[in-house]
Amino acid sequence: MTKNINIIGAGLAGCEAALQLANAGFKVNLYEMKPSEYSPAHKLKDFAELVCSNSLKSMEPHNAHGLLKQELLKLNSYLIKTAFEMKIPGGKALTVDRIQFAKKITELLSTNKNIKIINQRVDEIFEDEINIIAAGPLITHTLFNNLKKYTGEDTLFFFDAIAPIIYYESIDFNNEAIILGNRYGEFDEGDYINILLNKAQYSEFYNDLINAELHNPADFEKDKFFEGCMPIEELAKRGFDTLRFGPMKPVGFHYKDGGRPFAVVQLRREDAANTLYNFVGFQTRLKYGEQERILKKLPGLTNIEFARKGSMHRNSYINSPKCLTQFLNLKNHNNIFICGQLCGVEGYVESIATGLVAALNCGNFINYGKYLELPDCTIIKSLINYITNPVNAKKFQPMNANFGILPQLSIPEKNKKKRYELYAQRSLEALDNFKIQYAKLS
Ligand SMILES: Cc1cc2nc3c(=O)[nH]c(=O)nc-3n(C[C@H](O)[C@H](O)[C@H](O)COP(=O)(O)OP(=O)(O)OC[C@H]3O[C@@H](n4cnc5c(N)ncnc54)[C@H](O)[C@@H]3O)c2cc1C
Repeated sequence: MTKNINIIGAGLAGCEAALQLANAGFKVNLYEMKPSEYSPAHKLKDFAELVCSNSLKSMEPHNAHGLLKQELLKLNSYLIKTAFEMKIPGGKALTVDRIQFAKKITELLSTNKNIKIINQRVDEIFEDEINIIAAGPLITHTLFNNLKKYTGEDTLFFFDAIAPIIYYESIDFNNEAIILGNRYGEFDEGDYINILLNKAQYSEFYNDLINAELHNPADFEKDKFFEGCMPIEELAKRGFDTLRFGPMKPVGFHYKDGGRPFAVVQLRREDAANTLYNFVGFQTRLKYGEQERILKKLPGLTNIEFARKGSMHRNSYINSPKCLTQFLNLKNHNNIFICGQLCGVEGYVESIATGLVAALNCGNFINYGKYLELPDCTIIKSLINYITNPVNAKKFQPMNANFGILPQLSIPEKNKKKRYELYAQRSLEALDNFKIQYAKLS
C-alpha cells in the first residue's frame, strides 16, 4: 500500500485510473502537462477533457457501446458514473456538457487526499517505479520516443486515417456483383469479399467521392497525410483512374459469367469469428453520414451496418499485440502499464475502460501479487483480447467496442436483436460473478 504509482496523463484513461487507485488506498502521482502545455486538440484547463464530440455514444444495453457502459458501471467506473449523473438531453446517447464534466472530474481528483497532482510534462518514464502511461493519441513526441526504449523500435505507429468496418451479416451475398476469394485465387479461399463494379457504377462512386463533404479537420490535421494511408477521397482527386490502379484495382477478378470488372472494392476479414469486414484502402475523413450514403450505394451493400466508421486524426499508439499483456502492462517491463487510446483502443469510453482495467491490475498486483481475470465474454475483456492478440500484430489498427469481437454464443441465435440481448445478459451475469470473486480476493 505504501508504493507510489505514477500516472502520466490526466485524460480519460488517466483520470479513471487515478480515481480507482486512490479510492482503493494507493498513493498516486498524477502528472499532467496542462495548463502549461496543450496538445493540438486539448483546450480546457481541467482534466478528463472530451476533445471533440460531447457524446459518449449509446446508452442502450443491447448496443455494444451501451453494454460497455453497463459493464463499467458494474466495475464502479468513476468517469462513467459521473457522466450519467451529469447527462444532458441527447436522445439515446450519453451526452454531457464537456466543461462541467471536466470540472467535476478535476474536483474529484484534486480533493482526493491520495492524489498528488503534478502539473508537469513528463519526458521519461520512471524506470524503477510503477508507471501507468495514459498520455493519449497526442502524446508528446519526446515521451513517445522514450517509450520505444521499452516497447521496441518497431512497436510504435503513427497514422492518420482509418477505414470503416461493417458487419458481415449485413452484406447481401445474393447480389451477383459479390465474389468471395482472392485476387487470382491466391491464398486461402474466402479471405476477402470482393464487390465488382462496372464502369457506370465506378463513375458514380468516383463522382460521389470527390464531391462528398469532409469532416472539418483541425488546423494541425490539415494535409499532413502519409502516402501509405492517404484518405481515399484524396487519392480519388488525383484523377479518374487513380483508384483503379490503387486500392480498387480490378486485375485478377471476373464476374461469374467470365466478364471483367472495371474496378473492385475489397473487404478484408477483421476478426477470427468472421463477423467484421474492413474496406481495404478506404481510410477516409468523409463525414459519417457521407460514408453511409456513398458506401450503401455499392452493389450488395444497401443494408450494411457499420461497426466503426472511418475517421481521421493523428494517432500514436503502440503495437499492443506484440508488446502488451492482457493485463495491460508491457511484456518485458511489468512495472509499465499502458492504457487509453495509446494502447490501441479507439474511443472515449474504450479509453476509460482500459484506464480502469490497468488500475485494477496494477493495484491487485501490488497488493496480492496477481492480476485480475476479467470474463472473456465482456466487451471490455474482448477489446483487450483483440488488442493483445499476437495474430493482430502485423497490421494492427485501433479497435472500438462492437459485438463482432465477442466470443460466439454457445447456442447460436439467428435473430439479431435476441442475440444482442443474450450477449448483454451473458456479460452482465459474468461480471456479477466476477465481482464476487474480486471481493473475496480483497
Ligand atoms: C482530434 C481527436 C478527436 C477525437 N474525437 C473523438 C470523439 O469525438 N469521440 C470519441 O469517442 N473519441 C474521439 N477521439 C479518440 C479518443 O477517444 C480520445 O483521444 C480520448 O480522449 C483518448 O483518451 P486518453 O485518456 O487515451 O487520452 P487523452 O484524453 O488525450 O489524455 C491524454 C492526456 O495526457 C496529457 N499528456 C500528453 N503527453 C503528456 C506528457 N508527456 N506529460 C504529461 N501529460 C501528457 C494530455 O495533455 C492529455 O490531458 C478523438 C481523438 C482525437 C485525437
